Amino acid sequence: MSIADNIKSLKKETGSGVTLLAVSKTKPAADLQEAYDAGQRLFGENTVQEMVEKYEQLPKDIEWHLIGHLQTNKVKYIAPFVSMIQSVDSLKLLHEINKHAEKTGRIIDCLLQIYIADEETKYGLGFDEAIELLRSDEFATLNNVHIRGLMGIATNTDNEKQIRDEYYELKTFFDGIKQSYFRKIDTFDTLSMGMSSDYKLAIEQGSNMVRVGSTIFGNRVIKHWKNN
Ligand SMILES: *Cc1c(COP(=O)(O)O)cnc(C)c1O
Repeated sequence: MSIADNIKSLKKETGSGVTLLAVSKTKPAADLQEAYDAGQRLFGENTVQEMVEKYEQLPKDIEWHLIGHLQTNKVKYIAPFVSMIQSVDSLKLLHEINKHAEKTGRIIDCLLQIYIADEETKYGLGFDEAIELLRSDEFATLNNVHIRGLMGIATNTDNEKQIRDEYYELKTFFDGIKQSYFRKIDTFDTLSMGMSSDYKLAIEQGSNMVRVGSTIFGNRVIKHWKNN
Protein backbone atom coordinates (compact mmCIF):
# COMPACT_ATOMS: atom_id res chain seq x y z
CA MET A 1 0.00 0.00 0.00
CA SER A 2 1.15 3.53 -0.74
CA ILE A 3 1.51 6.30 1.84
CA ALA A 4 -1.66 7.87 0.44
CA ASP A 5 -3.57 4.59 0.79
CA ASN A 6 -2.34 4.13 4.35
CA ILE A 7 -3.54 7.59 5.34
CA LYS A 8 -6.87 7.05 3.67
CA SER A 9 -7.57 3.79 5.43
CA LEU A 10 -6.37 5.13 8.79
CA LYS A 11 -8.68 8.13 8.52
CA LYS A 12 -11.57 5.88 7.67
CA GLU A 13 -10.78 3.64 10.61
CA THR A 14 -10.20 6.32 13.25
CA GLY A 15 -13.22 8.42 12.25
CA SER A 16 -13.78 12.14 12.19
CA GLY A 17 -13.51 12.76 15.94
CA VAL A 18 -9.87 11.70 16.02
CA THR A 19 -7.05 13.84 14.63
CA LEU A 20 -4.32 11.98 12.79
CA LEU A 21 -0.78 13.17 13.38
CA ALA A 22 1.58 11.64 10.82
CA VAL A 23 4.83 10.84 12.63
CA SER A 24 7.50 11.33 9.99
CA LYS A 25 10.73 11.11 12.02
CA THR A 26 13.66 9.56 10.13
CA LYS A 27 11.65 9.61 6.88
CA PRO A 28 12.84 11.62 3.87
CA ALA A 29 11.06 14.81 2.80
CA ALA A 30 9.76 13.03 -0.32
CA ASP A 31 7.69 10.73 1.89
CA LEU A 32 6.20 13.69 3.73
CA GLN A 33 5.43 15.37 0.41
CA GLU A 34 3.57 12.24 -0.66
CA ALA A 35 1.49 12.37 2.52
CA TYR A 36 0.96 16.10 1.99
CA ASP A 37 -0.28 15.49 -1.54
CA ALA A 38 -2.77 13.02 -0.08
CA GLY A 39 -4.14 15.85 2.08
CA GLN A 40 -2.19 15.31 5.31
CA ARG A 41 -1.23 18.57 7.04
CA LEU A 42 -0.20 17.55 10.58
CA PHE A 43 3.25 16.06 10.96
CA GLY A 44 5.11 14.96 14.08
CA GLU A 45 8.87 14.98 14.54
CA ASN A 46 10.86 14.05 17.61
CA THR A 47 14.01 16.10 17.12
CA VAL A 48 14.45 19.83 16.61
CA GLN A 49 17.08 19.43 13.94
CA GLU A 50 14.97 17.17 11.76
CA MET A 51 11.91 19.35 12.17
CA VAL A 52 13.79 22.50 11.15
CA GLU A 53 15.32 20.81 8.10
CA LYS A 54 11.97 19.51 6.90
CA TYR A 55 10.20 22.77 7.67
CA GLU A 56 12.62 24.50 5.32
CA GLN A 57 12.05 21.99 2.51
CA LEU A 58 8.29 21.47 2.64
CA PRO A 59 5.10 23.52 2.10
CA LYS A 60 4.51 26.24 4.67
CA ASP A 61 0.96 25.27 5.56
CA ILE A 62 2.15 22.11 7.30
CA GLU A 63 1.45 22.07 11.02
CA TRP A 64 4.50 20.78 12.85
CA HIS A 65 4.14 18.99 16.18
CA LEU A 66 7.14 18.24 18.33
CA ILE A 67 6.65 14.89 20.09
CA GLY A 68 10.15 14.14 21.42
CA HIS A 69 12.00 15.40 24.48
CA LEU A 70 12.89 19.06 24.03
CA GLN A 71 16.01 20.63 25.54
CA THR A 72 15.54 24.18 26.72
CA ASN A 73 18.48 25.44 24.65
CA LYS A 74 16.80 24.27 21.43
CA VAL A 75 13.41 25.92 21.87
CA LYS A 76 14.52 29.01 19.96
CA TYR A 77 14.95 27.09 16.69
CA ILE A 78 11.33 25.95 16.48
CA ALA A 79 9.52 28.75 18.32
CA PRO A 80 8.92 30.81 15.16
CA PHE A 81 6.93 28.11 13.36
CA VAL A 82 6.05 25.08 15.50
CA SER A 83 2.34 24.40 15.72
CA MET A 84 2.26 22.39 18.92
CA ILE A 85 4.78 21.09 21.43
CA GLN A 86 3.35 17.84 22.78
CA SER A 87 6.29 16.94 24.98
CA VAL A 88 6.25 19.58 27.72
CA ASP A 89 7.66 17.81 30.75
CA SER A 90 8.73 20.60 33.10
CA LEU A 91 7.84 24.10 34.20
CA LYS A 92 11.34 25.18 33.26
CA LEU A 93 10.74 24.07 29.65
CA LEU A 94 7.35 25.73 29.55
CA HIS A 95 8.95 28.94 30.83
CA GLU A 96 11.51 28.77 28.03
CA ILE A 97 8.86 28.12 25.38
CA ASN A 98 6.92 31.11 26.72
CA LYS A 99 10.00 33.31 26.51
CA HIS A 100 10.70 32.49 22.86
CA ALA A 101 7.03 32.62 21.90
CA GLU A 102 6.89 36.12 23.30
CA LYS A 103 9.99 37.13 21.35
CA THR A 104 8.43 35.99 18.10
CA GLY A 105 5.03 37.43 18.96
CA ARG A 106 3.32 34.06 19.11
CA ILE A 107 1.24 31.98 21.48
CA ILE A 108 2.40 28.39 21.24
CA ASP A 109 0.03 25.46 21.79
CA CYS A 110 1.41 22.85 24.17
CA LEU A 111 0.44 19.52 25.67
CA LEU A 112 1.74 18.35 29.00
CA GLN A 113 3.38 14.97 28.55
CA ILE A 114 2.22 12.68 31.32
CA TYR A 115 4.22 9.67 32.39
CA ILE A 116 1.96 6.61 32.30
CA ALA A 117 4.26 3.79 31.23
CA ASP A 118 5.80 1.17 33.43
CA GLU A 119 9.26 1.92 32.03
CA GLU A 120 12.25 3.88 33.22
CA THR A 121 13.11 5.35 29.86
CA LYS A 122 10.15 7.61 29.17
CA TYR A 123 9.96 11.32 29.79
CA GLY A 124 6.96 13.01 31.26
CA LEU A 125 5.37 14.53 34.32
CA GLY A 126 3.84 12.40 37.02
CA PHE A 127 0.21 13.15 37.88
CA ASP A 128 1.30 15.07 40.98
CA GLU A 129 3.92 17.04 39.11
CA ALA A 130 1.41 18.08 36.44
CA ILE A 131 -0.96 19.36 39.10
CA GLU A 132 1.85 21.18 40.86
CA LEU A 133 2.81 22.86 37.58
CA LEU A 134 -0.75 23.98 36.86
CA ARG A 135 -1.13 25.34 40.38
CA SER A 136 2.15 27.23 40.44
CA ASP A 137 2.23 31.01 40.56
CA GLU A 138 4.72 30.99 37.77
CA PHE A 139 2.42 29.09 35.40
CA ALA A 140 -0.19 31.79 35.84
CA THR A 141 2.26 34.36 34.44
CA LEU A 142 3.02 32.51 31.19
CA ASN A 143 0.87 34.33 28.66
CA ASN A 144 2.46 33.04 25.47
CA VAL A 145 1.86 29.34 25.96
CA HIS A 146 -1.49 27.74 25.64
CA ILE A 147 -2.06 24.35 27.28
CA ARG A 148 -4.32 22.45 24.91
CA GLY A 149 -4.33 19.09 26.70
CA LEU A 150 -2.26 16.06 27.57
CA MET A 151 -0.07 13.52 25.80
CA GLY A 152 0.98 10.07 26.95
CA ILE A 153 2.92 7.06 25.75
CA ALA A 154 1.87 3.64 27.00
CA THR A 155 4.26 0.86 27.92
CA ASN A 156 5.78 -0.93 24.96
CA THR A 157 4.20 -4.33 25.62
CA ASP A 158 1.94 -6.96 24.04
CA ASN A 159 -0.21 -6.91 27.15
CA GLU A 160 -3.37 -5.18 25.92
CA LYS A 161 -4.89 -4.98 29.36
CA GLN A 162 -1.93 -3.02 30.65
CA ILE A 163 -2.05 -0.60 27.71
CA ARG A 164 -5.81 -0.17 28.13
CA ASP A 165 -5.40 0.50 31.85
CA GLU A 166 -2.69 3.11 31.26
CA TYR A 167 -4.81 4.95 28.68
CA TYR A 168 -7.86 4.72 30.90
CA GLU A 169 -5.91 6.35 33.72
CA LEU A 170 -4.73 9.15 31.47
CA LYS A 171 -8.24 9.81 30.19
CA THR A 172 -9.54 9.92 33.76
CA PHE A 173 -6.77 12.32 34.70
CA PHE A 174 -7.50 14.46 31.62
CA ASP A 175 -11.17 14.75 32.62
CA GLY A 176 -10.21 15.68 36.17
CA ILE A 177 -7.71 18.32 35.06
CA LYS A 178 -10.20 19.81 32.65
CA GLN A 179 -12.80 20.01 35.39
CA SER A 180 -10.43 21.50 37.96
CA TYR A 181 -8.26 23.88 35.95
CA PHE A 182 -9.81 24.45 32.52
CA ARG A 183 -13.53 24.26 33.17
CA LYS A 184 -14.38 27.40 31.27
CA ILE A 185 -11.70 26.96 28.65
CA ASP A 186 -13.00 25.13 25.59
CA THR A 187 -9.57 24.90 24.03
CA PHE A 188 -8.33 22.41 26.61
CA ASP A 189 -9.54 19.71 24.28
CA THR A 190 -6.68 17.48 23.12
CA LEU A 191 -5.84 14.05 24.47
CA SER A 192 -2.95 12.70 22.41
CA MET A 193 -2.55 8.99 22.96
CA GLY A 194 -1.97 6.03 20.69
CA MET A 195 0.61 5.05 18.09
CA SER A 196 0.80 2.38 15.37
CA SER A 197 0.74 -0.57 17.74
CA ASP A 198 -2.00 0.66 20.05
CA TYR A 199 -4.07 3.46 18.52
CA LYS A 200 -7.20 1.31 18.48
CA LEU A 201 -6.95 0.71 22.23
CA ALA A 202 -6.23 4.41 22.77
CA ILE A 203 -9.28 5.55 20.80
CA GLU A 204 -11.42 3.06 22.65
CA GLN A 205 -10.24 4.75 25.88
CA GLY A 206 -11.02 8.28 24.67
CA SER A 207 -8.05 9.51 22.67
CA ASN A 208 -8.82 12.24 20.15
CA MET A 209 -5.36 12.50 18.62
CA VAL A 210 -3.28 9.56 17.47
CA ARG A 211 0.40 9.80 16.54
CA VAL A 212 1.01 7.25 13.83
CA GLY A 213 4.35 6.66 12.12
CA SER A 214 5.17 3.21 10.82
CA THR A 215 1.61 2.33 9.79
CA ILE A 216 1.76 5.29 7.39
CA PHE A 217 5.39 5.42 6.30
CA GLY A 218 6.61 1.87 6.92
CA ASN A 219 9.09 0.68 9.54
CA ARG A 220 11.95 2.91 10.52
CA VAL A 221 15.17 1.03 9.85
CA ILE A 222 17.89 3.19 11.28
CA LYS A 223 16.86 4.36 14.71
CA HIS A 224 14.20 3.26 17.08
CA TRP A 225 12.31 6.21 18.56
CA LYS A 226 13.20 5.18 22.09
CA ASN A 227 16.88 5.75 21.42
CA ASN A 228 16.52 9.34 20.32
C1 LIG B 1 7.75 7.55 17.07
C2 LIG B 1 6.65 8.01 17.91
C3 LIG B 1 5.32 7.69 17.59
C4 LIG B 1 4.92 6.86 16.39
O1 LIG B 1 5.37 5.56 16.48
P1 LIG B 1 4.87 4.43 15.45
O2 LIG B 1 5.01 3.18 16.23
O3 LIG B 1 5.80 4.48 14.28
O4 LIG B 1 3.48 4.73 15.07
C5 LIG B 1 4.32 8.21 18.40
N1 LIG B 1 4.61 8.96 19.48
C6 LIG B 1 5.86 9.28 19.83
C7 LIG B 1 6.10 10.11 21.03
C8 LIG B 1 6.92 8.81 19.06
O5 LIG B 1 8.18 9.13 19.41
